[in-house]
Order: sequence, then structure tokens, then C-alpha cells
Amino acid sequence: MELRKDPITTSWVIFEDSETEPSNGGECLLCPGHEEVSAGIYTVPYGNPDWQVRVVPHLHPLYRIEGDAMRRGEGLYDKMRNLGAHEIVVETPQHDLQLSGQTPENIAQVLRAYVARLADLKQDRRFKYITVFRNQGEAAGQDLAHPHSEITATPFVPRRMRYELRSAQRHYDLKERCVICDIVRQELTQEVRTVASDDRYIAFCPFASRVPYETWILPLYHHCCFEEDLNSWDSQLRLARFIKNVLLRIETVSPAYHLVLHSAPNTNAKFEQAGYWKTLAEDYHWHFEILPVLTSKSKSYSLKEVYYNSMVPERAAKELRAAVIRSAAESS
Ligand SMILES: [Zn+2]
Ligand SMILES: [Zn+2]
Ligand SMILES: [Zn+2]
Repeated sequence: MELRKDPITTSWVIFEDSETEPSNGGECLLCPGHEEVSAGIYTVPYGNPDWQVRVVPHLHPLYRIEGDAMRRGEGLYDKMRNLGAHEIVVETPQHDLQLSGQTPENIAQVLRAYVARLADLKQDRRFKYITVFRNQGEAAGQDLAHPHSEITATPFVPRRMRYELRSAQRHYDLKERCVICDIVRQELTQEVRTVASDDRYIAFCPFASRVPYETWILPLYHHCCFEEDLNSWDSQLRLARFIKNVLLRIETVSPAYHLVLHSAPNTNAKFEQAGYWKTLAEDYHWHFEILPVLTSKSKSYSLKEVYYNSMVPERAAKELRAAVIRSAAESS
């Protein structure tokens, strides 16, 4: 595998030349009883064969942890090895219990696993950014049937994140305010795109939503870094309850979605320009972005040059606010 950089957009593209899917004879390797297949990087409860949440290396990783990136040029072009880490967070031993159906305590354990892995992977100075995401449903490209999230660590900051970090920095340079705090204030005032909120978190459909029912979840207070903010069981549990509620709403309109965490990059990474992140703590604000996948509404020509969205966020938020969600008792 190899990474190549587009010299115009400067975004990295990962190439794989072979078609070697790991064969597992139809059995789920993430279910209990297959612990020998991949040694756990993280297990809760620790050392207990009856685990609740596990983190294991991806069985078919996009990135490999050994060595260095071997950055090299070919004339004008840049390429590098697929250095990085690719891990799976097995969210529950139960094969068919998606995240939204799990107890708030279990979801909190999943968040706690994110926190632990983010903190650990940031110790590795070869990695500039750690991405936490989950694809649910075939339409969203869920590759393993067992409920899981994925974590990748890369020697570069993915393009969308880089744009976001740069814009946040620019906004701060101009106004000495966090752009996302500004957005939150406006959403709370206008109240037409909010999906849910409590005294700590807000979920809303962003003003320029890329897809129908796109929803962001973020803290009402300012914090740039997920794993530093979510460092207590109490905060993990409160966010878990909030996420569960929002996911149940989203699943009333679309069972398939992408969820991705946007948080501070690794400021300890090698070759980082001195002072580049000096306002990061003030200018950036962590959040989750949820992008539902509505196959019926996606356009076949979605070239993503300009996003086409068939639904305004004001209508999407109204629907999600009013959604009647199952197991309401469980979510409190
Ligand atoms: Zn399974
Ligand atoms: Zn902020
Ligand atoms: Zn974002």
C-alpha cells in the first residue's frame, strides 16, 4: 500500500493494489471466543475474559505501525508508505447490538476506550492526527458486521480536518473568538436547527449541512481536545446519554450513518513547525459529526465538488426534535 499526494489539493490518497480480504469462514472474529486472533490493545474490564469493550488491531489494516513514513518524491509528486495505526474498538460482545441500543454505561465505556487510545497514540511523535470514526450499516460502508468503531493514526492531518483547523485559526486571528463557540451561540439564539440540548451538550443540523439530517454534537463550553475534556467517568457517562438520545433520533430517519470525531491534532508530532499550534487551545473546539446515509436521497452524480443536499437543516432538525424514539426510559 502506498499514499500519494495530489499536488493541487494537497490531499493524500491511499492506494491498495491487491484484493486480499481476510477470510474468516463466515464466522465473526470480533465475537467472544476469538480473542486469540488478535491480542487486545485495551480491554475493559482489564484482564477479564468476560470483556465489555475491547480494542484490537484491524485485521486488514489500511496503515501499518512499523518503521517510518519514507516520504519521497518522484519529480513533482510526493508519496509515502502507509505508516500509521488502524485499530478496531469492539463496542460490545453482542454481535447485533448497535451503539444506540447499548446502555449509557456501555456507551460510556466505548467513549473511555476512545480517550485511552487517543492519549496513547498521541505519545507516538510520528503521528500528526488520530481519527475516530464509526460507519454503521452497509450503505455507510460498515465492513465488519459486529458493532465497532475504528481508530486511525496518520503521519498527516486529513484534508477536511486541516481545512477546519486552519479556518478556526483564521477566525481566532481576526476576532479572538472560537468559531464553534460563535456557532453555538447563534444556534442557541435562533433555535431553528437544534436537535437536542442539555446543560452540557448541544446537537444541531449545521447551517450548510452536506447531507440530509447531518448532525453535530458538541460541548456548550469551550474545549479543543476530546480526550483531555472527557477524562472523568461522570463526563463520559453524561456524553454517552446525550449521544444515545441523538443516535436514536437519527435512526428514525436513517439506520446507516458515518460518525466522526473532530478534535485537536497531535501537537507533539515530529517536524511540526514551532508555534504553529500556539492558539489551538483557544481556537479549536472538539465535536462529533454525524452524516446519515440516505441511499434514496443520494444523487448518482455526487462528485462532491459542490455538495447537493435535498433537505434544509431547519426542516431536518425539526423532524429530529420531534422524533419519537424507542426505549426512552433506557436513555435517561
Ligand atoms: Zn460478532
Ligand atoms: Zn469553542
Ligand atoms: Zn468538524
